[in-house]
Amino acid sequence: MDKQIIFLVTLLVTLGVFGYTTRRFIGFFKQTRGGFPVKQLGRRFGVMMEVAIGQTKIFRRPVMGLLHALVFWGFLVILIGSIEMVIDGLFGTEKVLAFLGVVYNIIMASGDIFALVIAIAIIIFLFRRLFMNVKRFSGIEMKHISHLDANIALTIIFLLMVSLLGMNTFYLLTAAEAGHEIEGVYPVSTMLAGFIRAGSGSHFWHELNWWLHIGLIFVFANYLPYSKHFHVFMSVPNVFLSRLEPLGKIDTMESITKEVKIMMDPDLAFASPPEGAEVEEETPERFGILDVEDVSWKNYFDSLACTECGRCTSVCPANLTGKKLSPRKIVMDVRARMKEKGPGLVKNGKEYSDNRSLIRDFISEEELWACTLCNACAQECPININHPSLIMGMRRYLVMEESAAPGELNAIFSNIENNGAPWQFSPEDRMLWAEGKVEVPVMADLLAKGEKPEYLLWVGSAGAFDDRYKQVSTAFAKVLNHLGISYAVLGVEEGTSGDVARRAGNEMLFQMQALMNIEVFEGYEVKKILTCDPHAFNTFKNEYPDLGGTYKVVHHSQFLRDRIDEGKLTLNGGSLSGKKITFHDPCYLGRANNEYKAPRQVLDALPSTTLEMDRNRSFALCCGAGGGQMFKEAEKGEKEVFLERTEDALKTGADIIATACPYCMIMMTDGIKYKNKEEEMKNYDIAELVAMSLDL
Ligand code: SF4
Ligand code: SF4
Repeated sequence: MDKQIIFLVTLLVTLGVFGYTTRRFIGFFKQTRGGFPVKQLGRRFGVMMEVAIGQTKIFRRPVMGLLHALVFWGFLVILIGSIEMVIDGLFGTEKVLAFLGVVYNIIMASGDIFALVIAIAIIIFLFRRLFMNVKRFSGIEMKHISHLDANIALTIIFLLMVSLLGMNTFYLLTAAEAGHEIEGVYPVSTMLAGFIRAGSGSHFWHELNWWLHIGLIFVFANYLPYSKHFHVFMSVPNVFLSRLEPLGKIDTMESITKEVKIMMDPDLAFASPPEGAEVEEETPERFGILDVEDVSWKNYFDSLACTECGRCTSVCPANLTGKKLSPRKIVMDVRARMKEKGPGLVKNGKEYSDNRSLIRDFISEEELWACTLCNACAQECPININHPSLIMGMRRYLVMEESAAPGELNAIFSNIENNGAPWQFSPEDRMLWAEGKVEVPVMADLLAKGEKPEYLLWVGSAGAFDDRYKQVSTAFAKVLNHLGISYAVLGVEEGTSGDVARRAGNEMLFQMQALMNIEVFEGYEVKKILTCDPHAFNTFKNEYPDLGGTYKVVHHSQFLRDRIDEGKLTLNGGSLSGKKITFHDPCYLGRANNEYKAPRQVLDALPSTTLEMDRNRSFALCCGAGGGQMFKEAEKGEKEVFLERTEDALKTGADIIATACPYCMIMMTDGIKYKNKEEEMKNYDIAELVAMSLDL
């Protein structure tokens, strides 16, 4: 009875402290913004089973991934034993779940084996942290306290496993001494018991290990919320709450849509609400994220779930090339800022200010503008944290509230407003790329003849104005003509998709462009859009539907692959015979839209050999041009991203880098030039390779 009373008091103290902590966090969550509705529960459950329970993303690094997965699965099994201990502690029973028979034996046996496996894994983890220089464990955000915290948590887990094995071992010895039947099966502890002499105070040692184990569980449960190991609680729900949209999609700001629609049609501002409708007084909301009260509850949830593992930072092209940006730091800064400002907000309300903010006092503008929006961080994060959404939120604040974008980006905003292209070219010149080179049908001409093409070919600003990429537009148009495809371009009516403006933080300009394009598409009753540009592909496919424009969007790699599969394109080679080609995955085709196969299938149809770079498919390094970087100086660092990627390609010894994106082509061409390798290596778009192999 004494044991039960002591246990009850300990449990109540544990729950009390845990309740206080939970209340504190709920208070912080209330300070964040809404948004992020949780729908599609079935799909979410599937993602949780795959990514959290199945640990699939952890296995992207197989060796350490396996160890971590074993620890996780072990914890799940051992948790059942811990629940049994709580029931036993409260009701004075022993092995209360033993009635489960064989199932119980399996659970106990696996728990016993897992305890040993976890203890060994923890020794390896500690050894790596203490004695090996693992790059991803360092970084400006990894202060002494972060390392100390990790080591404390790992030590507690190690002691938990040792006490579990001790408890099992002395349970076996106690039962043997008393002649009691043994409940459960304990393979590792049976072996350990063989090393201990019977009659050496087994009951005392069993009790000691029992209390030590349950005591450590209670201490750990209350230490976790203040530690990076909070992910033990938060990671599974965080995966359940994953963003389900393609990585490339950026959420639409509905508050901006309203304003843009009024700008485009001022009558809407004066339109009276429908009869009987309640009109709410709207408080103008700050655009984007300045401080922690502007982040969504999901962003804050992400920050609490972060394990500080550094997998995101280890693949970030900006970080890898010595820029200040570290996606792990961005997430950790949200958590740290809430810890700093949260209590004041809870006490004084949302108007509370401590004259500090997330931007500038925690995250510098330099960090934010170094991002290429390549999504490598989000792809890599084992618990599906989405860093780009935070970076985008802060860029939106800088651009729309403070007009504080870098000068070069302000220049492209003006160009887009005035010319419908990020470059300073006249819209009247949009068809010059084709003049004298290839016959290209134009939508307006076809309409005048009463014809409607199957596809709109979206040329894009690079396709129309960049000297190198104009050759790709020409090559692809020749292939389309060769195949007799029913298509047309918008010509002088084409603008920009708005992708660059959006990713550079100018949501207002993006939506204006998008709504204007949608109007033009509607005028021509466009149903299918074909483009060589993965950025336009992503924007039309994933982002225009939020604004009312839904189309079947096809990237030229998919289009060419399908024609090859149908037997309509037979690629015979010519000058490409025997060449070695390596393919650079564009972020907005690959990671953003999960299309890795189509361009490779096109290359496989050529009479050449395809070589893979070490970093390929979802591991591919960005070319460095996304997220508006194409139009501005890179932030200070040790190297340019495009050079790092060019080195990846050169290492393969290939004769050709194949690309499937205008930005990638511009960057890779520059990289080859910079490295003085123009003789050894050429850069072609896959459309050009197809045209070459057809002698077009
Ligand atoms: S999106 Fe790319 S560049 Fe930006 S933080 Fe993530 S990995 Fe780094
Ligand atoms: S954000 Fe994800 S990948 Fe990055 S440190 Fe946190 S848990 Fe690891």
